[in-house]
Parts: sequence; C-alpha cells; structure tokens
Amino acid sequence: MRGEVKTTCPYCGVGCGLIVSPTRDGWAVGGDPDHPANRGRLCSKGAALIDTITAEMKRDFRLLKPEIDGKTVDWPTATQETADRLRATIQKHGPKSVAFYVSGQLLTEDYYIANKLIKGFIGSPHIDTNSRLCMASTVVGHKRAFGADVVPGCYEDLEIADLVVLTGSNLAWCHPVLNQRLRTAKEKHGTKIVVIDPRKTASCDIADLHLPIKPGSDVALFNGLLAWLDQNGHCDLQYVARHVSGYETAVAEARADCPDIESTAKKCGLDYPSEISEYADHDGSGLGKLETFFNWFAAFDRTVTVFSQGVNQSSSGSDKVNAIINTHLATGRVGKPGASPFSVTGQPNAMGGREVGGLANQLAAHMDPNDVNDVDRVRRFWNSDILEPGEGYKAVDMFRAIERGEIKAVWVMATNPAVSLPDADRVRLALSRCPLVIVSDTVNDTDTLRYAHIKLPAAGWAEKSGTVTNSERRISRQRPFRELQGDAKPDWWIMTQVARAMGYGKAFKYRDPADIFAEHAALSEFENDGMRAFDIGQWQKAKKSAYDAMEPFQWPASRKHQPAGGSERLYGNGIFTTSNGRARMLAVAHKLPMSQPGKEFPLIANSGRYRDQWHTMTRTGTAARLSAHRPEPLLEVNILDAKRYKLTDGGIARIRSKRGTALMRVSVSDAQMPGEVFMPMHWNDVYSSAGGIGRLPTAHVDPFSGQPETKHIPVSIEPF
Ligand code: SF4
Repeated sequence: MRGEVKTTCPYCGVGCGLIVSPTRDGWAVGGDPDHPANRGRLCSKGAALIDTITAEMKRDFRLLKPEIDGKTVDWPTATQETADRLRATIQKHGPKSVAFYVSGQLLTEDYYIANKLIKGFIGSPHIDTNSRLCMASTVVGHKRAFGADVVPGCYEDLEIADLVVLTGSNLAWCHPVLNQRLRTAKEKHGTKIVVIDPRKTASCDIADLHLPIKPGSDVALFNGLLAWLDQNGHCDLQYVARHVSGYETAVAEARADCPDIESTAKKCGLDYPSEISEYADHDGSGLGKLETFFNWFAAFDRTVTVFSQGVNQSSSGSDKVNAIINTHLATGRVGKPGASPFSVTGQPNAMGGREVGGLANQLAAHMDPNDVNDVDRVRRFWNSDILEPGEGYKAVDMFRAIERGEIKAVWVMATNPAVSLPDADRVRLALSRCPLVIVSDTVNDTDTLRYAHIKLPAAGWAEKSGTVTNSERRISRQRPFRELQGDAKPDWWIMTQVARAMGYGKAFKYRDPADIFAEHAALSEFENDGMRAFDIGQWQKAKKSAYDAMEPFQWPASRKHQPAGGSERLYGNGIFTTSNGRARMLAVAHKLPMSQPGKEFPLIANSGRYRDQWHTMTRTGTAARLSAHRPEPLLEVNILDAKRYKLTDGGIARIRSKRGTALMRVSVSDAQMPGEVFMPMHWNDVYSSAGGIGRLPTAHVDPFSGQPETKHIPVSIEPF
C-alpha cells in the first residue's frame, strides 16, 4: 500500500469511517474526519484494529490454504470438489437439502452472491444469517408498522433530540461512537437521557433517569406509556387521522394491558420494595421514575427511542419493537428531525445483508419471498428458472433440520454457530451428523471449523473490497490495504468459482465487486415504481472508478424518486411504504418470556457485550490491549444473591441452566437487580475451557422473527 486508504470499521453497526496510513513497520489507523458516521471519532475496538492484524501476523492464526477432509489442496481442486459434493447432494436429496448460514461480517457483494446462488440457482430457500440473532425482530416490527424494513431516522437525530430514550441498548459499550456523539450533544444543550434496562450499565453514566424494568417487560412499559399518552391528551390525533391505521385497537389493547401508571409499574417490576432498592443502588421510587419518564416523553416533541438487542433477543421481540413504534406513531414522531424510533444494529453489515435478502424470510432488494410478483420479478431479473415463492428455515430451525437429517449440506461463512447459537451443544451435534459441512473463514480454528469437511480460506477485513451499510442506512466502502494472505480469497470470488463449477457460469460472470454492486443497484430499481423503499438505482451504471471513489451515502438513492446523495430521513411526510400509504399501529399485549425461573433454576441470566470484545473473540481476542479491559468473563451478581448462594467476589461460580453448565469468576455488583445475573456473550471453547454462554440458553424464539431469547435464561448458581 502506498498512500492512505479510506475504509470502514468491521465491528459494529455504527459503521465508522477509518483512514489507514502506511508506517515504517506496518499501518496506523485513525478515524476519518469526513465520514458522517463518526467525524473522526473511534472507540477502543476501532483504534486497536491494527493490533489484531499484527497479532495475526505473529501467530499461526490464519487459514491460508483450502483443505478437503484434512488435506491441503489448491483452489481449482477445492472449488470443483465443493461443487461436485453440492451437486451430488442435490441430485440425491433435492435442492432443499442444501443450506447456507452466513454472517453480518460478509460484505454486501458477498451476501448478494450467496443469495443469488442458493435461491436463484441451487433452488433452496434455506439461507439465513447470524443477523437472525441480532435484529430479526426489528425487521418484522418495521415491516408491520411501515410496510418496509426501514430505519426512518439518522444519527444526527440523536444530537438534535431533546429526549433520547435508550431501551435494551447499552450504547456506551456496544455502539461507543454514537454514545460519544450523544454525550457531546448533552454537554452542548442538555439532552435528557433515559435508560430502560434491567441492569445499571455504563450507558447510565450520562443518563438523567434509569428505569430498571423486569427483564422482558418492555411491551408492558410502552403499552402503559401509550395508554397514558392517550388518556392525557398527548397523542397527535391530527397526524394519526391523516397517516396512521390501527390507533384505536392498539390503544384499547394497551389500556387492557396497563390501564394506569400503577399497573404499568407493577408489570414492569418497578414497584420494588425499599429493601431491594437499597441493595440494588436503584434508589428512589420506581413509580416516581415512571411518572417522570411519561411526562418527559409527552413534553418533548424531539424524542428519539434507540433500541437494540435487549429488545430484539426475546420471544416477544417483534411485539416489543411495535410497542415502541406505536408510541412514536401516536405522537407523530417518525422521520422528523430529532424524532424517530431508531434501531441500532450490532454488526457492521447487518443492514447490507437485509438489503440483498440475507434472511430466510427476505428476498433480494427488500422484496418479499412470499409475494409471487416479487418472486417473478427477481426470477426474471436473474434469469433463474428455479426460484420459487416461500421462506427458508430461520437459524435455529435450520440447525434442527440438519440435526434430523433433512438438510445434508451446509455452507457456513464468516460465523461461528457452534458457539453463538442458543443450545450450542445441539448445534454441535447437528454439525457432527451433517454429511457435508463447508466452512469459509479467515482463521484456522473456531468451534465450527472443527466440524468442517471442506475449509475455504477467506480474505480478512484488511484485504477485502466491497460495501457495508450502517444503522442509519449509510452505504460505505470497505477498501483493502493489505495483500491477500496465503491463498485466501474474497467470499464473492469463492462462491462465484463454485457457481461456475456447478454449471451456472453465465449468471456469475463478475470481474470484481463493482460489477456485483452495479447488478444489486439495478435490481433495487427494477420495476420499482417507488413502492419499494430500498432503491440505490443511481449506482446501476456506475463505472469501477466511480465505485472505487464512492463517498458514503444513505439510501434511498434512486434515479427516479430521490435526490442525488441519498436521503437522511424517511417518512417525514407521513407517507409510508404500505399499500394505502398509512403506517400501522399494532395491538400488542405483554407476554412473559418463554423460559421462566423456578425451583431448580431460580435466577434470570442476561447476556451481552463487553466494551472491548467482539462476538466470539476470533479477532478482538488476539489484541492484548483489548483483553486488558476484561481478561476473563465475569458473572455479575447482586450482593443479596451472592450472600444467598454463598458466592464471594473473585471466587468461581458454576452456572447451570436446563441446557448446560459454565464456570465464571464472580463479580459482586450493584449493577444487577436481585434475582438477575449477567454474563458476557464472547467466550467460547477456543478461548476458555469453562464453556461459553452459548451452551446455556434454551432455543426459544420469537414466533414472527425466529430470533432466539438469549437475554432471559433461567439458571442456578453455586460456588465451584
Ligand atoms: Fe468500530 Fe463501532 Fe467502534 Fe465505530 S463504534 S470504531 S464502528 S466498533
């Protein structure tokens, strides 16, 4: 690399722009001052990116050559053998015996090829992504409310809002640069910040109010708010009359659920007795705090509600999303400056994956796999004669289908389901039984790779070229600054070679990611009369030089309907992407989480991220300075529970659930409410012999989104 390279951080959904500069012994990384997502800022993970590359160079860490059944082979052999085994599986068991399980770490171009290959040419609907664990409930909530999977706002809204509500989101640790922007805004004009979270997280450091609600009670809270707003004349009935359907039924359901503040406080566990508040450091009356929250929500037109995995990872995640959106629709606060519901995604490209149909219940370019017109449109565009209407298996169901022998071949790309999916032991069993496991990865040892018959070395972040989309719909380029390592290749290239070897060469003639992006852009505008929100048609005829020079932009960026440079906000005019143009408020009722504590497992375990770690640590686990923040996983326990279960601060605890066991050091913490414990999600068998948290949850899922309930796990704890 000769000069500076502008690229994008590979970690979280903030999607910060980076500038990588060459130095005498390697590279230096800094925040890109021109990138609208971060304007030069970085968090600890982004700042340590070069450490992870340096660590990788010093260690025998990368997967450098293709391997088949334990033997190193060259690429022609690897792609031909992969193609032959897939074809043999299809011939013997049919196309639906093949599945792909992919990742928000893939670039949009990789994702596009994966979807086109399996849906359009292999003829199987079974492709899902680890984004299922991240924001699938939001996709359902958005589609039900707006008619499309659209985040209506942008990051600037957090800076110009008067009230920012963080619910189920530890923004300070999980989206640190957004938190920095919020902190600066608060310092400038005193933004009020409310944190709704069972735990007292680092996000509470700048909060004016913390509501430690009972895990899983979000629908009750937002139903209580909706009923109260309606009763007290705080809803914008003019906006509702013009732009919203379903107001009366949603309010009636909310009233039936939580008719007043007292009942809301009770359902949300905010009526805690004083002896609990003393030990939990959640001083003050829960009821009083709830009243304050309701009054602030009513008072500030410029309100943004940020929600994330604490809302999504639930057996009622989709309903939680709609309960939140209901309060914004009832007050006319959608897509206006400083006023929107705002989903922040966990992964760098969870949004890009959604755009190309990376989820089992999506089709390319935000089209619907159950809509025969959409399916016909995509079939004609791809020149596919095999694409059929219908959804594929969502993540948990996919691995169940592998376990029972219905799916005979799975291709896992850039993810580690043997750790990250709930009921991980069952996932491992499924992989061990699967006749053909293909894994593309950058590293040579993950829990999932141990089950692979075919290992394909993939290009890493510093070597890849393509695009990602962040949580505010902003598409940015990832650019390479390091040569490919060993025989590693980009994921799109690997799949294209396999597709050609399977006989689909005509449809997979791409020379580079620019060709793929142009086709993706063309499909987004193909027969789109403006009723499909996702549209980046401006890019369909862009030359490679324009693609290489692409500045970050927000979709929609259509040639026909949107201004050049994209759109900061959507739906501010009150016209939505539904057939009648009206948004929908949904009647939703509070439901208890599916796994409830009992005599054997009396406590509720919550899970989440550490500030300096990422997913299952395959990258961040290599950087010493990142591991220094929290060198090992800690079980956070309230002092009342520590006493009750005879645990000492710094001692080791055994945590048991219905599904498995893990060992962790105890941290007695006033951040936890009594009866609840917290565990980080990152550690796995490669980094710890104690067993990862993935072994603990039961695979209960939201019935609409298929997203697993990984934040409400009944457990017992005891000294080890
Ligand atoms: Fe990377 Fe997210 Fe940190 Fe930005 S906030 S530097 S995208 S990890």
